[in-house]
Order: sequence, then structure tokens, then C-alpha cells
Amino acid sequence: MLKRIINYFDDKTRSSNPSIIDGAAYSLTANMISRDARKVVETLQNAGFDAYVVGGAVRDLLLGIKPKDFDVATNAEPSEVKSLFRRSRIIGRRFQIVHVQFSRELIEVTTFRSNDQASQGAGNKNIGLRQQSKTGMLTRDNIFGSVNEDASRRDLTVNALYYNPSDNSIHDFTSGLDDINSRTIRIIGDPSTRYREDPVRLLRVVRFAAKLGFGIDSRSAKPMSKLSADLAQVSPPRLFDETLKLFMSGKGAAIYALLREYKLFDYLVPQANRLANDGSNNANCLFEQAFINTDRRISSNQRVTPAFIYAALLWPAVEKLAEQLREKGNSASYALSKASSDVISKQVHITAIPKRFTIPMREIWDLQLQLPRRGGQRAKRLAENPRFRAGYDFILLREQAGEDLDGLGEWWTRYQEVSPEEQQQMADEAGKTVKKRRRSRGPRKNKTSEA
Ligand code: ATP
Ligand code: MG
Repeated sequence: MLKRIINYFDDKTRSSNPSIIDGAAYSLTANMISRDARKVVETLQNAGFDAYVVGGAVRDLLLGIKPKDFDVATNAEPSEVKSLFRRSRIIGRRFQIVHVQFSRELIEVTTFRSNDQASQGAGNKNIGLRQQSKTGMLTRDNIFGSVNEDASRRDLTVNALYYNPSDNSIHDFTSGLDDINSRTIRIIGDPSTRYREDPVRLLRVVRFAAKLGFGIDSRSAKPMSKLSADLAQVSPPRLFDETLKLFMSGKGAAIYALLREYKLFDYLVPQANRLANDGSNNANCLFEQAFINTDRRISSNQRVTPAFIYAALLWPAVEKLAEQLREKGNSASYALSKASSDVISKQVHITAIPKRFTIPMREIWDLQLQLPRRGGQRAKRLAENPRFRAGYDFILLREQAGEDLDGLGEWWTRYQEVSPEEQQQMADEAGKTVKKRRRSRGPRKNKTSEA
């Protein structure tokens, strides 16, 4: 009991009367908000409702980062919002919001929510609008509330700042501005309860800490490892989307380190985590390198695909299983194909990777078997394969991570640079070397092991 009282007074995020601060103190001006978002706020306010720009956009503007999009929060209910905007629709069941479409952007309008347990009492008209599972996970959250209540149901203090462009004021209910100033990621309310309500918040803490380069407050960090297993309750499609935000954020390397530190990676890609923990292979180097390369590509505006990252994360598991299958006498191509299927089918139960990514993943893996066999006409055919570039980049990645592939990456690099005549020469040479090697090794044990 005493602990609970102490915790209560210790909790800086307890929603109270807001501090209202002039945006000018943070060099914030209304014209930093997109025209469409301002229009939505104005229309709602003119109809007599309260409305603010909220969440990531306010946080990013305060930090001098260009916002990705603008979200609006209001006390108008979804149907009232919908009636004010012609091109709008209500979406979601678990959490209803209104999408207002403009020609250049989409503005998400959310009605203030309450996180208040008491409002679930008998006879309350809100019954059934907020549902929790046995472990405390919120499965439905449609109880509307005041702006104050809305602030306390958000995830992080830095994500709970409300900006009113009409008078350039920032409304801070949870000491979010202090945390912006001290560069701290802090969960609002009791961290364990908030993680149990929605385990994706564990991932959001890590993502925003890496994105903003902020430290994680110790009270918020403490229960994270212990609650990591709750991620298993998140639906595979939602968890897949969250992994995209983590892996393709441009801060993948930092995020990977934090996911490992807080035992979250174990529940995202367990087959990879197991091998990364086992020091006898270079899986961890491969994963780190894959994230470093992806981050670098993102920062130089090069194309990135989740297929490449997932191919890297699952490759050591595929290789290990394929080796076991080969040892049982299966051909190399059958072993690889069977291992690929098994590893993918285990992963999609956790993060639902769509087919449009699992197919190229398999093609990248397949090329790892094909690219060393480049004699005669094979090199030309391989270089024309639509997935060649990804397969070749994957060879380079494996070499960068410390694997010895007998100069394969360099060979293919040179092959792409020389004239067609020289290419043919290279391929002929490579064919001879393979034949010589085979002869010196003696007859093959398994006739089907090389296609
Ligand atoms: P980003 O720059 O990635 O869009 P964001 O902070 O805008 O960051 P969103 O996922 O767009 O993040 O969510 C908008 C806002 O909704 C957040 O700022 C936060 O206040 C709230 N929010 C989002 N997800 C959760 C969650 N799982 N639990 C509580 N609040 C959340
Ligand atoms: Mg956002």
C-alpha cells in the first residue's frame, strides 16, 4: 500500500491542470502546421468543439524535425467529425478514428479518450466500449473523455503535447515539455500497467528512444524485459507492421541493440535471436551489418525492402536447418527449399510477413546457392535474373559480416564492370576452376547435391 502511495506521488506524469505555454517560447508558429491540419482544427473550433494538433507532429516540431504527418484530437465524437468534412470516413473498431482526406494529405482525427477504470461501472452508457483481456490488454477502447483524460491514456509524455494553432499555445498535462528538454522517453502512468494494456508500447519506447536519440527513464525501463513475453499476445499483422517501423526507420542498428537489451528481439524473431545468442556463429554480426547497411541506404535515399532485412534475419536459421537436411542425404537445393519453408512458416505466426515479401526472401536465399556456380552460360543467366541485385548485395553483406566466400562478392563486382567479352572469359575461367576443384576432391558422394 505504502509503495503504491509513494509510486503515486513519484509519478511525474500524473495528469493534472495543464501548463499552458506560449509556442513562441519554443519558436513554434502556426504556419509550421500543414494547411490541411490547420483547416481541420479551425473547422472543428468554429463548430464549437475543442481541437488541437497532437502527438508526433508537436513533438517533432519542438525538436526541429519535419513531422511525418499531422494528427488532430478533439472532443467532437467520430460521427460529429464526419458530418463536418465531406471527404471523411470513420475507420477502426478497436479504436475508432476519422480520416479526413485532402488532395495532398490525410488528417487523422481522434476523439479524446478516457483511460478511467471507474467509467466502466454498472449502468454506464460506455459499457462494452472498453474491453480488456485477462492479462490487462486493451482489446477495445472507445470511451470518450476530456482532453485531460486523453493526455493520460497516451503512451509517452513527449507524445502527449497539445498544440492550438489559433492562439499558438502548447497544453502540457504530463510534463512532456520537461522531458523534451531533458531528452527523456517516459511512459505516462504506471509503466507495467501501461505495457500490459498494450505490449506494442514496449516497442514504441525503443523506437522513439532511437529515433530521437533520447534516454529511457529508469522507471519506464525497469519492467520492460520482464514484460517482453506479452508481445506474444499482439496480433501477427500488427506486430509485422510494428517491425517495419522498427527496421525501416533509418535507426535500425540502434533499435536492434535496444531490442536485444530489453529481450524484445526474442519475441519478434526468436529463430534469429537464438542464433545471435550462440557465439559459435556470426549471426549477430550479420544482423548488425544488415541494419547498418539499411540505415545507410535510407539516409542516402536508396530503395530498401523489408524482404532484404527479413532475409538477413532468418538466413542463419535457414542455413543451419538446410545443413542438417543435407547431412541426412538431401540435395542442396531440396534442403534449402525445405528449410526456407519451415523457417518462414514459423516466423509468420509471430509477424505476418506478406507473400509479396516472403517470395523475394526465398529468391534471395536461392541465389546464395546459385551465385557461386557461375561457369559457362550460367553467369550471364544469373546476372539477368530480376532478383540478381538483391542476391549479390546479400553476398556482399555476408562477406562484410565476416564470412569467407572465396572472393565471390569481388568476382561478381568485377563481372558487372567489364565488357561482354571479358565477362565470357571470366565465366569460362570460373567453369574451369570449379571442374578442377571437383576433380581434386574426387567423385561426389551425392549425385543430386549440385544441380
Ligand atoms: P510517428 O512520427 O511515428 O508518426 P507518432 O507519435 O505520431 O509518431 P503515431 O503512431 O502516429 O505516432 O500515433 C499518434 C499518437 O497516438 C502518438 O503520439 C501517441 O500520443 C498516441 N499513440 C499511438 N500509439 C499508442 C499506443 N499504443 N498507446 C498509447 N498511445 C498511443
Ligand atoms: Mg503520427
